[in-house]
Amino acid sequence: MWIMDRDTVCALSSAPGRGAIGVVRMSGPEAVKILSECFSHADKLEHARMVLGTLDAGDLRDRVLAVVFRAPDSYTGEDVAEVHCHGSPEIVNAVLRRFVSLGARYAEAGEFTRRAFEAGKLSLDEAEAVGDLINAQSAAAANAAYDGMRGALQRAVNGIYGKLLKIAGELTAALDYPEEDIEARTSAEALPLLRECESELDGLIKSYAAGEKVRDGVRVAIVGLPNAGKSSLLNRLLGSDRAIVTPNAGTTRDTVEGSYEYNGVLFTLVDTAGIRAASDEAEAEGVRRSERAAKTAHIVLRVIDLSAPVALPVDTNGIVLDVYNKTDIADSPDAGLGVSALTGDGTENLRKRIYDAAMGGKVSSGGVMITNARHYRLVLNAADELASAEEAFAADAVDLASAALGGALAALGNITGANATEDVLDDVFSRFCVGK
Ligand code: GDP
Repeated sequence: MWIMDRDTVCALSSAPGRGAIGVVRMSGPEAVKILSECFSHADKLEHARMVLGTLDAGDLRDRVLAVVFRAPDSYTGEDVAEVHCHGSPEIVNAVLRRFVSLGARYAEAGEFTRRAFEAGKLSLDEAEAVGDLINAQSAAAANAAYDGMRGALQRAVNGIYGKLLKIAGELTAALDYPEEDIEARTSAEALPLLRECESELDGLIKSYAAGEKVRDGVRVAIVGLPNAGKSSLLNRLLGSDRAIVTPNAGTTRDTVEGSYEYNGVLFTLVDTAGIRAASDEAEAEGVRRSERAAKTAHIVLRVIDLSAPVALPVDTNGIVLDVYNKTDIADSPDAGLGVSALTGDGTENLRKRIYDAAMGGKVSSGGVMITNARHYRLVLNAADELASAEEAFAADAVDLASAALGGALAALGNITGANATEDVLDDVFSRFCVGK
């Protein structure tokens, strides 16, 4: 069992491989004792203070910085000892072997964070945000994860949870002491609070449209006839010569990708082969890929060549932005989004328009944003249960409403981990790396 008989675990917490410094971490009741047995200045170790000394790893020795954190004031809530040694795999492995020979065992993936969760240092969603922060691919993703790690979602969910508990408590009382009309009265009293919860859940649900893009980035496909200027536009938006630009139609046979950040959000551009009847097999495959890229993109830039304006039909689930290219040789329509990929004119405005279209003004509004698919599913689930509860109230069926509220509470409790099952915890923490 996890909770009982805690042992002491150790792992490399910095990235594996060769580097200037490697951080080896140990957590558990024996952590300080084990470190003390192989560190030259054990007598100087005090809470949260770096000490320079020699670590005797048996096979080799290293000059290291060591630090201990005493329970409960540590990441895991247990005694923690860290050694910052030189970052060679030989040294790191020797240090780990030494700790293991003195009684520690190798930590499993995510075990430090799981221990922090089990010690009540972090809620489950906060622990997941730690993983999201490590995996963040853009500044916006890192900021969203940081907010999550600091409990933004947990507070929002707990607020709703508290209100639902209140309603559930009143319902239980109504069911326990049935009098005439009490069901109708309870329903009338519960409804406003229930609707408040529904509206808060709705806000969270809506935030995922932006949250998902903040986490994974936004896919932008560039489509249009050959020679419309798609490759030139991609290079402009990226600020590099990623795609090869030539005056021959049909040069871009395959898709070409590149990414840039705008307001911290990652945008991945896919320059697709000109959509037209392909002249050979390689080009036909390029056309197929471009159709797929357009279909699955969040945003499709339909590039229209102002010197020969034709707007192709686009099959996509995303938002189509018409981009009129070559404003250096012809004027774009008044309301149109004009650019010159050749001179760069209008590209900054285009970046902004792409951002606005993708995010719908939903980022940095200060509100809580869901970025995690597991949280999203559970919030949807809770909202479904509340809709059922509302129907039950309308029919004065207090027992059914009570059951639906229980379902909503269970879903919300699974987000913060208040009532998460062992399977859920195993699944969440197995996604972490070893050492986290
Ligand atoms: P693609 O086939 O749609 O990828 O088009 P390219 O980017 O390869 O461009 C086709 C031709 O149009 C090249 O000769 C480019 O130099 C030219 N071109 C692209 N953008 C502009 C523009 O804004 N103004 C002008 N005058 N020429 C452009």
